[in-house]
Amino acid sequence: MADKRDYYEVLGVSRGASDSEIKSAYRKLAKKYHPDINPGDKDAELKFKEASEAYAVLSDTEKRQQYDQFGHAAFEGGSGGGGFDFSGMDDIFGDIFGDIFGGFSGGGFGGRSRAQSNGPMKGQNVRTSVRITFEEACFGVEKEIDITLKEECPSCHGTGAKPGTSPETCSKCGGKGQVVFTQQSLFGMVRNVQSCPDCRGTGKIIKSKCPECSGSGYVSKRKKISVSIPAGIDNGQCVRIRDKGEPGINGGGRGDLLVEVIVSRHPIFQRQDRDIYSTSPITFAQAALGGDVRIKTIDGEVIYTVKPGTQNDTRVRLRNKGVPSLRNKQVRGDHYVTLVVEVPTQMTQEQKDLLLQFDKAMNGNDDISTEDKSEEKSEENTKKKKHRWKK
Ligand SMILES: [Zn+2]
Ligand SMILES: [Zn+2]
Repeated sequence: MADKRDYYEVLGVSRGASDSEIKSAYRKLAKKYHPDINPGDKDAELKFKEASEAYAVLSDTEKRQQYDQFGHAAFEGGSGGGGFDFSGMDDIFGDIFGDIFGGFSGGGFGGRSRAQSNGPMKGQNVRTSVRITFEEACFGVEKEIDITLKEECPSCHGTGAKPGTSPETCSKCGGKGQVVFTQQSLFGMVRNVQSCPDCRGTGKIIKSKCPECSGSGYVSKRKKISVSIPAGIDNGQCVRIRDKGEPGINGGGRGDLLVEVIVSRHPIFQRQDRDIYSTSPITFAQAALGGDVRIKTIDGEVIYTVKPGTQNDTRVRLRNKGVPSLRNKQVRGDHYVTLVVEVPTQMTQEQKDLLLQFDKAMNGNDDISTEDKSEEKSEENTKKKKHRWKK
């Protein structure tokens, strides 16, 4: 790091150079040293990298200020002490090379940096699902699920090579995992980099494969995994279990296991967020006179006192009888109960007589007068309609 050249010197500009001067200086150097134009020229490649690094810093106002103040020390350590962090450079290259290379180099430098897949990569996440009851979703539950997990092969310890042998360095790519091929273009021969077809980017070739895992390095195992489902979970939500997904590549960590929770329908309760809805029957007498009724909740039956004169479809609220919050069990939603007045369908003659007697006591009128009234009403309506027609 000590022999690093000054960024301004690399680009051949003064300390007070404007953004456009910096861009134009880099453009010239990039055209001259780009690896696509100088295939196999190590010196040109180094010069290109040096210029790109200088440009990445000096074209960024914030980074340029840091550099002016602290020199190269401003960027050391942040990238693990080993060289310059080129991540996030794609935009710059896209910007600079968009007009220089057009589409000839198939994505240019940016495309190449993405093709570098030889490093550690986290494994894929695995998805599965588990079915639970309405009550289990409300109060939380511990479930055991069966899942097929890829485990490191006990025979070859993940190398994929037959015990006693070891994987060899791929001769096609020299262990780099990538191959370069050249193509004729406007600028002469253009280099393109691709994942090595022989070793599929791993840089290693297994001559004699491990018989237990057929060279993959992994064996599939059926495993029981315990899933702790928190109280308050809702249908369709996922529980994440770290490091139970697919194994990583080249030493990367495992992916996660995502367990989707499917909540079975409840015969009487319906849920919306943290609130529960249900209906509860009450008799006509309870509705009219008031009284205690039993109402089912997720905590069991509660006694609710119906007010005298309660109408059909009245909705009452039972506070804190809903679903607990996922974050805090103490915080609960409410339970809304719709009181449905039951109309009897089968009655004895005695019951019928009593009801008629009651009805008479309430109305004091006989049936005919009611009929007359309705006729009058309908006549009125007809008159109104006619009236409207005339208008
Ligand atoms: Zn094996
Ligand atoms: Zn290879």
